[in-house]
Amino acid sequence: MFAAPAAFAPRCRGCGLDLAAYEPGPRALYPVVLPLVVLLALGAVRFDDALHPPLWLHALIWPPVVALVMIGALRLVKVTLLTRRIKP
Ligand SMILES: [Zn+2]
Repeated sequence: MFAAPAAFAPRCRGCGLDLAAYEPGPRALYPVVLPLVVLLALGAVRFDDALHPPLWLHALIWPPVVALVMIGALRLVKVTLLTRRIKP
């Protein structure tokens, strides 16, 4: 049901449901994304405090971690919102 990592496909391949109509606006996603950004930043600081990794290791680790966390969270929120709107 996803065409891009965190964007719905235009239609459900199974039942033809118009998924694009249920794509939440960015405003609906801020309450999820903003706390995650704070948590990830705090996590990065603690990781640095605990292990003092070299800068290149930060550069290697954080982009994929941030991407995976964000994509996972956005998918979860979008599916949750979709389910609530389909089955009230
Ligand atoms: Zn479907």
